[in-house]
Amino acid sequence: MTADIIDGKAFAARIRDKVAEHVARMRSAHDLTPGLAVVLVGEDPASQVYVRNKGTQTTEVGMASFEHRLPEDTSQAELLNLLDRLNDDTEVHGILVQLPLPSHIDADLVINRINPAKDVDGFHISNVGLLATGQKAMVPCTPLGCLMMLRDRHDNLSGMNAVVLGRSNIVGKPMAQLLLRDSCTVTIAHSRTRDVAEVCRRADILVAAVGRPEMVTGDWVKPGATVIDVGINRIPAPERGAGKHRLVGDVHFESSAAVAGAITPVPGGVGPMTIACLLANTLTACCRANGLPEPEGLTA
Ligand code: NDP
Repeated sequence: MTADIIDGKAFAARIRDKVAEHVARMRSAHDLTPGLAVVLVGEDPASQVYVRNKGTQTTEVGMASFEHRLPEDTSQAELLNLLDRLNDDTEVHGILVQLPLPSHIDADLVINRINPAKDVDGFHISNVGLLATGQKAMVPCTPLGCLMMLRDRHDNLSGMNAVVLGRSNIVGKPMAQLLLRDSCTVTIAHSRTRDVAEVCRRADILVAAVGRPEMVTGDWVKPGATVIDVGINRIPAPERGAGKHRLVGDVHFESSAAVAGAITPVPGGVGPMTIACLLANTLTACCRANGLPEPEGLTA
């Protein structure tokens, strides 16, 4: 068997198109432009790239982008003040604080200062609780993107055995909650799980989010399973020249693709979906704030 490749790049482009169409309609019918504020503290090079990409894609779909780049030595109080202003700003519908934050700032305190209705990352404790209790929440972008790809692949997820490898607050746990909400039978595996390969082999849906390069190999995969690889790992690639690197997922692609029914590649799978879902969440937040119907197919 050779798996179908789930093209996250193309999928993300379709989501952005849908968001852009919706934004255009909102602007003409309601004179309303969804706005996303992104806050970056410090000079972390990877974070700077993410923030730039988010800003570019936000304006490309017709939304307003507000970037706040603060120096590394910004105090916690200054950051909280900025969040208070953004919470009160009616042109801002989504607020994202780029993580990681410098060590002198309490990230939990900062995230929980964001108005939950504007928390487009879905990390605020209220949104975590709403998701866990099956209520309308802002859903973290990466798991939302994974869910969209799974719903696109399967007409109905109900009753499927889903295994989520990893239990982080930003990927593993919300992913498990979303799958549970779609009535999967969900197992969460982590570093203390016994015989993790055997657990994975029972999965009709396997979501890998462990941050371990190519840990999941083909013999862990149930024939025909759908494999979603969230991992992004940079490993040395001497075959490309001295000092070169390449990106791999948490899943060994070739051996797993020989067994699975469908699989996401790395790069080009889950990665592009994350920013697309951030835009979708910003649109959803704007609709909710203004009592407008939510965009179909862009929420959990
Ligand atoms: P974390 O490091 O926060 O969590 C990793 C999880 O994997 C933990 O729950 C850990 O278990 C578990 N784990 C680690 N080693 C093993 C093992 N040997 N066997 C079983 N479980 C193990 O990572 P994140 O959730 O933040 O990210 C996971 C991966 O996804 C990373 O590669 C990251 O770069 C990528 N990522 C990609 C995104 C995208 O946009 N595509 C967005 C976010 C993350 P325990 O809790 O017991 O320690």
